[in-house]
Amino acid sequence: MTDSPTAGTAAGDNVVTELERSALQAFDDVVAGSGDFRSRSGQRRMAAQVARTFSRATLGKPEDDDEGEPERAIAVIQAGTGVGKSLAYCAPAIALALSRGTRVLISTATVALQEQLVNKDLPALAALMPQPFRFALAKGRGRYVCKLKLNRLVGGDDDGDELFADADESDGDVRPGAAHTQQARMQFYGDLVHGLASGHWNGDRDALAAPPDAGLWSPVAAESRSCTGRHCPLFGECTYYEKRKELVGAQVIVANHDLLMSSIGARLLPELDNCLLVLDEGHRLPATALEKFACAMDLSRTTWLDKLASHTVRIGGLLAVSEAADAPRLASQMRQTLLDLSRLVMDVYGSELKEQAGAWGPPRARAAQGRLPEALDEPLRLLAVTAESLMDTVSAVGKALRAEIRDKPEEARHLSTLYAQIGMLAPRLEETLAAAQLLVHEPADGEAPAAKWFTCAVVGDFIVVKAHASPILPGDTLRTHVWSSVRAAVVTSATLTSCGEFDFFLREAGLHGDPAVTAIEVESPFDFAAQGRFITSETAADPKEAAAFNADVAKALIRDIGQVEHGALALFTSREQLRVAVEALPASLRDVVLVQTELPRTVLLKRHRERVEAGEVSVIFGMQSFGEGLDLPGALCESVFIAKLPFSPPDDPVGEARAEWLRAVGRDPFNELVVPATAMRLAQWAGRAIRTETDKAFVYCYDRRLTRTGYGKRLLRGLPPFTRVRHDAQGRVVG
Ligand code: SF4
Repeated sequence: MTDSPTAGTAAGDNVVTELERSALQAFDDVVAGSGDFRSRSGQRRMAAQVARTFSRATLGKPEDDDEGEPERAIAVIQAGTGVGKSLAYCAPAIALALSRGTRVLISTATVALQEQLVNKDLPALAALMPQPFRFALAKGRGRYVCKLKLNRLVGGDDDGDELFADADESDGDVRPGAAHTQQARMQFYGDLVHGLASGHWNGDRDALAAPPDAGLWSPVAAESRSCTGRHCPLFGECTYYEKRKELVGAQVIVANHDLLMSSIGARLLPELDNCLLVLDEGHRLPATALEKFACAMDLSRTTWLDKLASHTVRIGGLLAVSEAADAPRLASQMRQTLLDLSRLVMDVYGSELKEQAGAWGPPRARAAQGRLPEALDEPLRLLAVTAESLMDTVSAVGKALRAEIRDKPEEARHLSTLYAQIGMLAPRLEETLAAAQLLVHEPADGEAPAAKWFTCAVVGDFIVVKAHASPILPGDTLRTHVWSSVRAAVVTSATLTSCGEFDFFLREAGLHGDPAVTAIEVESPFDFAAQGRFITSETAADPKEAAAFNADVAKALIRDIGQVEHGALALFTSREQLRVAVEALPASLRDVVLVQTELPRTVLLKRHRERVEAGEVSVIFGMQSFGEGLDLPGALCESVFIAKLPFSPPDDPVGEARAEWLRAVGRDPFNELVVPATAMRLAQWAGRAIRTETDKAFVYCYDRRLTRTGYGKRLLRGLPPFTRVRHDAQGRVVG
């Protein structure tokens, strides 16, 4: 593997500046001063790249117009498990932030890494660095309780009608809280009030003993749309704003990719052009970008519109906001258009949707090439225009309310409650507007069209039709919303190359061809050839013949699991494959297997550890989410069994739309998209095996396409250099 060539060769690139030198010295001092941290050549090389990147970028607004273009610097660093990457980026980045008078913003994909940084790595570093620094964890405001809403619910001055506005339109599976009785809700909110009063609970949803259902939590979440901020009578004791103060005084902020993207322009996190940004678990960035900018609207259930209109008229009337009188007309127009659209969608796609009844997940029909039938075009455009007008009306009332609260602080409690009533429903309007706009968006020449699709589900006695839209190129989205602002960034992960190259990730992340980018891979301290064996185990059946193949894999798994002495992980690509394997297990093995679909993740992992520590055999059967980010060192995972190559799910409408567009422009989606994406996933899955320098592990893959096809050989190139072995269908070594 060679480092990616970069276009970032500005004059003076080879000159080591004083800033860079002192940042790297800070890293060396920390390593030297700690018995816990071991210096590794890959780690030091990474620290040197971080120091170089963060010392060179220009931060903040230029003081002088004649200064020319500010310098940008972005490092993409693949650093495998064991490199110690958090120290390699934290020490030089923090030293530089302190000397440059700026802040470090670290964004991760998982809560587990956030917790490791805040509870372990950063406190250890703070004890070793000569200059003090403060760090804080940033979470979305919806994870904190809004005391105003909670008090209102528990105080009995509210029948909960507005706050539970969504509950009667629940999808059942998505918002299970809708099924809660009024008594259960009141018990839950009463417990929250008691926890706050007694000091046993700090207002953070994650600090509750068990995660609450979305339907229970959402009415009391501290969302921005329902919050009047410093005008709120409880502002001085607000949990969210208390936490936010910690962020203001911190030099290091730990956030997540989702929050990073939703906070752009919201002044919660440091400005992207004036901080040192670290994106750890960077391989998740493209997927997060697509999820963040996808949108959907419900075409069938519209009662929320009537509620929104009546609140807007009532509150607008109190405040003499003339535009408010228009709200009922606009809401009624929207309501009618949504219902018309629902009927039209069923006219056009009804038979396609009905054919899928009984299949896994809601029936879905996608508009080929992002082109909607003509019949839908006009109502969608009308919907977008009407939703925008209603949004303006609601915003005018919200603005008048904020002004009134400012002028009449003695009425703040009552007025803030009115604000919350409107604010609870406004996000639904925003989402409908965003979906309608993306659905009618016509791509410019050469621009990729959005993926557009419709779903239909039976919820209670109703048929619920929804319209969905999503961008298909995460790179474009990230370039527009993130990279256009960023000056100094390090993107890192254990897996950023695909089939041995950075190209795929750079394209997905919107960094390909960016002259500010330097991409390097730093060496792992692991001796993969000595520590691990990668076994390609043949099956008689072709993996494309699902039923026969799943049965063969189940048989082979039973044979190989019999060799496990402590802990192991088996990864499946579909629920069906998992089900077949579980059903095939003999009674003697059923007891040693923990199945992802049968237990909550935390419970399952705890039980697995307990069993292995007690000297018992324990094997986890999981799917995609267990293939990434799971750290099971030593005896906890001595074998990884990969049932099938982890291609993207065949029913992903965004992937389908993207492949279709690539074909339409004469490109090859299989080689350009499917193979590299699968290679990254396979490397992640295989990466669960070796977690420390003393681990020894086996990785089994039962997909014979790995050795029998050209693309299989490309996939193998992206794996660590394990010792390779081939088994035939009877489990005998054949090569
Ligand atoms: S400041 Fe906002 S989030 Fe905090 S209690 Fe008041 S309304 Fe709720």
